[in-house]
Amino acid sequence: MTLPGSLDEAVAALSAMPAAVPVAGGTDLMAAVNSGLLRPAALVGLGRINEIRGWQYQDGHALLGAGLTHARMGRPDFAALIPALAAAARTAGPPQIRNAGTLGGNIASAAPTGDALPVLAALEATLVIAGPGGSRREIPVGHLLTGFDMLRPGELIGYVRVPLLHAPQTFLKATGRTGPGRAVASVAVVLDPARRNVRCAVGAVAPMPLRPLDAERWVASLIDWDGERTLAPEACAAFGDYVAAACIPDPAPALDGGEPGTLPPAALHLRRTVATLARRALGRALA
Ligand SMILES: Cc1cc2nc3c(=O)[nH]c(=O)nc-3n(C[C@H](O)[C@H](O)[C@H](O)COP(=O)(O)OP(=O)(O)OC[C@H]3O[C@@H](n4cnc5c(N)ncnc54)[C@H](O)[C@@H]3O)c2cc1C
Repeated sequence: MTLPGSLDEAVAALSAMPAAVPVAGGTDLMAAVNSGLLRPAALVGLGRINEIRGWQYQDGHALLGAGLTHARMGRPDFAALIPALAAAARTAGPPQIRNAGTLGGNIASAAPTGDALPVLAALEATLVIAGPGGSRREIPVGHLLTGFDMLRPGELIGYVRVPLLHAPQTFLKATGRTGPGRAVASVAVVLDPARRNVRCAVGAVAPMPLRPLDAERWVASLIDWDGERTLAPEACAAFGDYVAAACIPDPAPALDGGEPGTLPPAALHLRRTVATLARRALGRALA
């Protein structure tokens, strides 16, 4: 395994060995190796790249290093900065996973049940991608939701640029009956008073997080942005239903004019779960 000391050295190592695979905390990668799904010819370890292990401030944004671990993002100083991402990090698996697993690995794995991408989608964050020759290019996380490819061969996620909103934001997830772990559904809600909008992303119910844009616009129009920024419980509940119906829609009407289909019980249950999460997430953000 090669252990470069900088992002550009890591990119150079990947360019020199096209069959090599980058590894950060190894929590996803080693699981794939152990189950026989992946046999990397060589590994480029990212664990010694100090420049991507912390964060810095830049023009009203936080520039988060891809090597930040879940455990680090869960700490109070980070939670004061980006509360929804800290909340997601605190729920990302057991402590061993949170100590080793990184933000960059979570994004690159892009698992439907991953907790970082829904939050980053609601925050309208941007990925900073490092490429050969010291090049950098940026991809808004929103583009990934539309199926845009994240990385070209030899590239690495270097940083994530997150706007600092100084306003409430929440992340909630529901897990299976077995207790804490991977999301069955997750919801991130972000208030953006400067733009007078509410942004919401729903994770785990589709291959990529979903943004219920109509529900966002509807609820933002109900909020008194210059006043108390509160909403009646009925309005929060209606928002939850709106979000859930947008993410898990009713089956399309039958083309032959017959009876429209109905949602199977499991999908109905998931829709109720999303509605509850969205209602609570909005209620907490406005509380
Ligand atoms: C038991 C268990 C429970 C888990 N629970 C959760 C959970 O609740 N929520 C959740 O979100 N995740 C969960 N995970 C998944 C995992 O911990 C996270 O996705 C983790 O953040 C991955 O980071 P890593 O550093 O370990 O990535 P690695 O395993 O090192 O890498 C994962 C993939 O990303 C690539 N990669 C890594 N870093 C970069 C980079 N900077 N640029 C480009 N590519 C990169 C690797 O090549 C690999 O393809 C769980 C995993 C396990 C094993």
